[in-house]
Amino acid sequence: DSNSISIVDDDRDKLFDGLLASGFDEASCISKVQSHLYRKAESPHKPSPYLISKLRNYEKLHRRCGPNSRAYNRNMIKIVHSKTNGGGAAAICKYLVFKPSNGLGNQMISTVATFLYAILTDRVLLIRFDKDKEGLFCEPFINSTWMLPKNSPFRNEKQHVETYQSMLLQKEKAAINLPSALFLNLQHTKDDPETFFHCDYSQDLLRNVPLLILQSDQYFVPSLYMNPSFNLEVTKMLPEKDTIFHHLGQYLFFPSNKAWGLIRRFYETYLAKADEMIGLQIRVFIPDSVPQQAVMDLVLNCTLENKLLPEIDTLNSVSSSTRKNKTVKAVLVASLYPEYGENLKAMYQNKPTISGELIGVYQPSHEEHQKFGDNKHSMKAWTEMYLLSLSDVLVTTSLSTFGYVAQGLGGLKPWLLYKLTNNETHFPACEQDWSLEPCYHVPPKHYCNGKPIKDFVSSFPDLRECVDFSHGVKLV
Ligand code: GDP
Repeated sequence: DSNSISIVDDDRDKLFDGLLASGFDEASCISKVQSHLYRKAESPHKPSPYLISKLRNYEKLHRRCGPNSRAYNRNMIKIVHSKTNGGGAAAICKYLVFKPSNGLGNQMISTVATFLYAILTDRVLLIRFDKDKEGLFCEPFINSTWMLPKNSPFRNEKQHVETYQSMLLQKEKAAINLPSALFLNLQHTKDDPETFFHCDYSQDLLRNVPLLILQSDQYFVPSLYMNPSFNLEVTKMLPEKDTIFHHLGQYLFFPSNKAWGLIRRFYETYLAKADEMIGLQIRVFIPDSVPQQAVMDLVLNCTLENKLLPEIDTLNSVSSSTRKNKTVKAVLVASLYPEYGENLKAMYQNKPTISGELIGVYQPSHEEHQKFGDNKHSMKAWTEMYLLSLSDVLVTTSLSTFGYVAQGLGGLKPWLLYKLTNNETHFPACEQDWSLEPCYHVPPKHYCNGKPIKDFVSSFPDLRECVDFSHGVKLV
């Protein structure tokens, strides 16, 4: 009967088209049950049946080998006490300990890339968030935890663990005598050593190490894609290639009950009643050398030129439009600085708009600068990324991973504000992205044979230069 059909439909929405397994403890993660009600339209991007089956299989692996299982204790003792890989290829459970680094946006995009790598290599992902990042998210894997246990010897920095970089230098020897745990650094630094992580010979070597400790702040999915065997599998899992972060990010990152309360209260108080919501993320990377007026001009050029926000009527102080049902637009401003929200708010309060639309401007916080090790600060950052992801129209700042998270979770193609570095005027002020994916800022520089990659696009037809950073690439 029609009743039961609607229940099935509702369940499907609730479980994000099968992305989530049923049977989780709903009270422990209310956003898993409620968040679909806050996304405006039904998502046009459905997870493939193959992705869903891979996720269910991953969850089984995680339950069987993850913290609190017998296999976990047994394997960890083995890994800690043996100096060599001890037939690592045959080990029942293999692990990927992940240490995300840098700001929250960087940490989240690199976590998604690492999770994909874990699925592709049948490893159990154990994450080591810093204290300030704890309590932001729900546990993603049903009946288990993804947090590296507090008593794990692998919580300590790099200690006693050989590094992948040093092994590459002595490849011949290493092939015979692989360690049981290896540190792999994919973190972006100024003088990046070439890691050849995308190459088969690296993956053949890494496959035989039971426990990898990975550190990264990058969305290195394109380098997985550059590996022929991973490539086939990723294409099968995620045939719509620009939805990798969208699906895996939605799967991994549900706001904890505390974060969800903050998100819901802000949304319901200020944003829910508007006819349209515009998210505006204004990230100023070098505040001392970029005057606020230059940034404000950039934001207005972008939003007015592209008709994302209406022009104000400078001649009149009362709107000539007398229509009763005026369109109300809510602008959510995310920035470390209060002035951007205040300026915009004053602009729309002091004068009517030519179109007669009413504009409300809301900025949840203004932290002034990025803070490290501060849980409240990280909570604010997370709630703002999430709120931005609920926008109908999104404007973000070029190169900002904070913006990438909102873009990917929301399934939105944002307008990317030009990244100012001094008191300049730039046209166009922004350009719309063609993809939902984050940009990989530091792709490999060489083919596996050591020759430099001159032209990415002709060598890897599924990769394109990012709109916001020509040295970066993303999948098409
Ligand atoms: P990125 O540096 O823009 O790529 O983004 P990250 O998230 O990696 O690092 C920036 C960090 O600065 C964030 O995680 C926040 O801690 C802080 N931050 C930057 N912009 C904002 C903002 O608009 N709102 C809040 N609440 N925090 C911000």
